[in-house]
Amino acid sequence: SKSTNKAVKVAVAQGDGIGPEIMSAALNILKSAGANIEPEFIELGEQVYLLGNTSGINNESWDIINRNKLILKAPITTPQGKGYKSLNVTLRKSLGLYANVRPVSAFHPFVKTNFPNMDVVIIRENEEDLYAGIEHQQTQDVVQCLKLITRPGCERIIRYAFEYAKAYGRKKVTCMVKDNIMKRTDGLFHEVFNDISLEYPNIKSDSQIIDIGSAKLAANPENYDVIVTSNLYGDIISDIAAEIAGSVGMAGSANIGANVAMFEAIHGSAPDIAGKNIANPSGLINAAVLMLAHLGQLEIADKIKNALLATIEDGYHTPDIYQEGTSKKKVSTQEFAKEVISRL
Ligand code: ATP
Ligand code: MG
Repeated sequence: SKSTNKAVKVAVAQGDGIGPEIMSAALNILKSAGANIEPEFIELGEQVYLLGNTSGINNESWDIINRNKLILKAPITTPQGKGYKSLNVTLRKSLGLYANVRPVSAFHPFVKTNFPNMDVVIIRENEEDLYAGIEHQQTQDVVQCLKLITRPGCERIIRYAFEYAKAYGRKKVTCMVKDNIMKRTDGLFHEVFNDISLEYPNIKSDSQIIDIGSAKLAANPENYDVIVTSNLYGDIISDIAAEIAGSVGMAGSANIGANVAMFEAIHGSAPDIAGKNIANPSGLINAAVLMLAHLGQLEIADKIKNALLATIEDGYHTPDIYQEGTSKKKVSTQEFAKEVISRL
């Protein structure tokens, strides 16, 4: 049985700003729910940057990550100023985290949104495209950035999207590209999408041009199920989707690689409210739920997800989602976690 299985070791980064507060809430909930995981804490972010390490991560943390191949990460703060490298980009590239998965759904009527039935999963390619980092100064007045798209890269992300749809009972995968203009790069993505979709006859598929596609997503998000797209487009539409769901503080995301997976909230370290015990831990809790699902601990993932929804439905709200009239009680980060635990 599951309980006799050895606990899965997870590298846990407590992060900066509100990071430690929301991580503590998330870990308490995981523990109370009986998640079969064992946290191993790693140092990264401010505490490492401020020691003069411009990458924000030390060798000991790399060792733990490479051993465990699984990361639960709270948001970190990249110090202002030249020379500090974005740790998110470093982790993504070093660990080959090719898929960024962001489920976005409404929490109507408890969190304000125009789209109560919205339930979209955006699957964004995470390594290629204009974000491959190939930028050149051609002359003093001419600069260029290369858009890199590879067939294996397209195959991997598109197959991931269809497999995701299959595993989670999703009905449709929509591809978004601009292949009427970028016939080779986006054309390749679209061509691979068409080929791979044939292998999944039970899942509907369609393709939209990114400009009208993102406009329609913003106007009628309830018409979308799974969306697969390249790096830049995915970056933009996943923020649009989270914003119109009304739940930027609520969404979690998964960064998936061939060997390593990393789970995090989509928001930043919110230094403006750090240390006050008022941050909403839901985004990181949802990230932890995605991690459990990835590990196949589906029952526990559902248990936590349902307890989180019940807490929000019962009107226990942190200040960011508190609304006079709709909410029942304004709660702290810790009180919110307690309410979730009591509903497991
Ligand atoms: P970063 O550069 O680290 O991504 P950002 O500029 O995108 O940071 P966030 O840190 O995400 O900004 O914060 C944006 C706003 O949302 C802030 O006012 C912050 O207080 C609020 N916020 C972010 N996350 C939460 C949360 N979990 N609970 C409550 N408020 C939050
Ligand atoms: Mg941000």
